[in-house]
Amino acid sequence: MSLFHEDRLLIDGRLVRAERTFETVDPSTGKVLGTASDADTGHVEAAVTAARRAFDTTDWMRDRELRLRCLRSLYDALHTHREELRDLTIAEVGAPRALTHGPQLDEPIEMVKYYADLLEHHPFREELPVLESRGRRHRRWIEKEAAGVVAAILPYNFPNQLALAKLAPALAAGCTVVLKGAPDTPWTTLALGRIIAEETGIPPGVVNVLTSSGPETGALLTTHPGIDMITFTGSTPVGKAIMAAASATLKRVFLELGGKSAMILLDDADLANAAMFAAFTICSHSGQGCALTSRLLVPRERHDEIVGLVAAMLGKVRYGDPADPKTHMGPLISEKQRAKVHGMVERAVAAGARLVTGGRPVDGEGFFYEPTLLAGVDPAAEIAQEEVFGPVLAVIAYDDEDDAVRIANDSVYGLSGAVLGADAERATAVARRIRSGTFSINGGNYFAADAPFGGFKQSGIGREMGVAGLEEFLELKTFAVPAD
Ligand code: NAD
Repeated sequence: MSLFHEDRLLIDGRLVRAERTFETVDPSTGKVLGTASDADTGHVEAAVTAARRAFDTTDWMRDRELRLRCLRSLYDALHTHREELRDLTIAEVGAPRALTHGPQLDEPIEMVKYYADLLEHHPFREELPVLESRGRRHRRWIEKEAAGVVAAILPYNFPNQLALAKLAPALAAGCTVVLKGAPDTPWTTLALGRIIAEETGIPPGVVNVLTSSGPETGALLTTHPGIDMITFTGSTPVGKAIMAAASATLKRVFLELGGKSAMILLDDADLANAAMFAAFTICSHSGQGCALTSRLLVPRERHDEIVGLVAAMLGKVRYGDPADPKTHMGPLISEKQRAKVHGMVERAVAAGARLVTGGRPVDGEGFFYEPTLLAGVDPAAEIAQEEVFGPVLAVIAYDDEDDAVRIANDSVYGLSGAVLGADAERATAVARRIRSGTFSINGGNYFAADAPFGGFKQSGIGREMGVAGLEEFLELKTFAVPAD
């Protein structure tokens, strides 16, 4: 791909030049890809002021027809630019092409249509029964109105998905937005800003798009008095910092954070299938997915047999050039992330885990890491408790079903999980006992625009996508008037 430069930010309906830019790197080669806009405090102020003005002084919040037209035109524009966005996503995220036909690009674009369709029919009003109180009758109803000016802060791993899973319902609800992209993947976010500015008719100030090389821009948004609500996806430590920072102005805080999800193989599971599922899941986007199952819980007596099967499957995972349609696994996002992954693997081995396969950075250019299997992992070890965000699967033996459930729940996280077994009812009963926001039973796919996604415990607060994802951006206002 040729070098790409974007030094503009979307502020108040205009593409404004940033004085500073920063370099972005192709994770599959380690070489500089181009430059992106580096917002400063002045840009943050201007973006919040514009979003505030659009929310407080225009009809955006009340004009459902306008919002519907804007969402439909955003959907059309994203379709028009789909292949350009695909190239950007492959280049800067290192996302395998195949994944861009799913959750890295095509599915998120369809999510815009989902929210436009939902907006057409969603009840923003709810009647309550007449209340007899203090000698009078009172007619009551609830109206749902936009939560206000939203700061949306994105991580690097699925930038299109996470931008649109926040933007589409926020716009449907009538909010205005300051969207901040991740430092490692600014272009997809800037491209979205440019498309919005040039092709959608979304009124000035309703969407503002910033990118920056460091965390300061995000941090400023989390304390800014002009922001009513924060929607954040990213790591749990940053989520905690955001919640603390937002408390000074008591903003609504929506958090989608990390995970350490467990896949439980029941004793009657088809082991060959299960091994394939476990291996290909952990290598999906090189393990850089918050909901990927990075712990594999297996019956103790089948541990070694399953380890052999999973290792064989990991050996078949095709990794390399993300632009190649046959590639299953691309690189990690950066050398920093690769060093973090490798450090965790080394510490896991030092703590007693058996390295079965992988365990090394791949020689050559780019930030690739070998598909890695660690067996006989202690459920209390760092590798079983902390998020790796790399293609590293930890196999943990359990004694019986209760033990499996106990180990699966022995985590500060509660984002997702999976169970595989011959009897779907038994597997479902096990799934019900795990405290997590989503669950796959026998390979079922829960991830779709109409399905709420989010975490229990330290995996977050609130739900993205589905009707719940729209309601996150709505305030409830209760009205009452004497009925006689
Ligand atoms: P990160 O937490 O390092 O950064 C995310 C964003 O927060 C970036 O835009 C960053 O600039 C910004 N940021 C950093 N410090 C900030 C601060 N103090 N105030 C405000 N903003 C700040 O995450 P990452 O490394 O980009 O992404 C990986 C993490 O995201 C993983 O932990 C992963 O589990 C999580 N994630 C969660 C979900 C989910 O839905 N639960 C989805 C994708 C990724």
